[in-house]
Amino acid sequence: MESKQTINFGAGPAKLPQSVLLQAQKELTNYNGIGISVLEMSHRSADFTKIINTTENLLRELLKIPDNYKVLFLQGGGSGQFSAVPLNLIGLKEERRADYIVTGTWSAKAAKEAEKYGKVNVVHPKLDSYTKVPDSSSWAVDPNASYLYYCCNETVHGVEFNFTPDPKGPVLVSDMSSNFLSRPVDVSKFGLIFAGAQKNVGCAGVTVVIVREDLLGKALKECPIVLDYQVQAGNSSLYNTPPCFSIYIMGLVLEWIKNNGGTEAMEHLNKQKSSLIYDVISTSNGFYSCPVDPDCRSRMNVPFRVGSSQGDEALEKKFLDGAAKLGMISLKGHRSVGGIRASLYNAVTVEDAQALANYMTRFLQEHQS
Ligand code: PLP
Repeated sequence: MESKQTINFGAGPAKLPQSVLLQAQKELTNYNGIGISVLEMSHRSADFTKIINTTENLLRELLKIPDNYKVLFLQGGGSGQFSAVPLNLIGLKEERRADYIVTGTWSAKAAKEAEKYGKVNVVHPKLDSYTKVPDSSSWAVDPNASYLYYCCNETVHGVEFNFTPDPKGPVLVSDMSSNFLSRPVDVSKFGLIFAGAQKNVGCAGVTVVIVREDLLGKALKECPIVLDYQVQAGNSSLYNTPPCFSIYIMGLVLEWIKNNGGTEAMEHLNKQKSSLIYDVISTSNGFYSCPVDPDCRSRMNVPFRVGSSQGDEALEKKFLDGAAKLGMISLKGHRSVGGIRASLYNAVTVEDAQALANYMTRFLQEHQS
């Protein structure tokens, strides 16, 4: 029987490059001819040391990470970092104050978690809906805050920063879980960047933290030891058993990014892919609608409604069923917002995005009243 091609538009864990999966499959039972799997390997062995060092070096190369930054491979996901960031950094200044920009679900969760450890200030008036980045001229950043935090790409709401905030004093911290390595980033502007791997750089299990060295050693005394950046940096991420297989997969994905032109090439492709979808939306005369301000529409996660700006649920179900028949899966919007969401991470190809755009155009022609 002929197998139907599946295109995974899921928000994460998400599509991986086919070549990465094939390589992992090939090496699964016998890594590099050593007779065992990475799954069975000691994290202190020479073979694993090579894997983690190669992964770190590739990341340093792809992001041009300056030498005064540590790269950590941790467990606990992005959510673990919602706690780790304040536990490690809110005490940088005695007042224990932190500033947050809240543009969606994930930064809201991070700000709430930080409230356990100090005083949290949201620097802009509360948003009625998560559809924009509030104008930076309206931000009241506290020069005495320990850090300014933002989520570079809000995965649920599809709001992405198209600029790097200038905190003018406090250290800049960013959650890049859902757009990490989708474009170049000037790491030197940040005190800390973190990203769960399961969207753009691998599978679930490992979270990358890139942290400037001078920020280490300031953790609150109640910081759990596995979340203490200084402890993890001092042990090259091996204070406890790291997520070895996830680090190995990340290494393969980073190699794939490098072989495909690096972050500049990813950015070019991500612009192309997201434009294909946004163009169909904006020329549909309101049949499709995306609530996000055009200047901060995400290249990674495109949320949209079908039928009207509130969404016609029956039509949206029909849209999803029709897409599934064509092999296009995981297009349902997040349960908190409904509608449709197409995630277009690095491993999603231009052809995949074109297939979705073609389907959207056909669906529009068939159902427009
Ligand atoms: N930050 C962002 C931007 C996310 O999209 C997610 C999850 O989707 C998280 C944090 C939380 O990540 P985790 O589920 O790994 O804790």
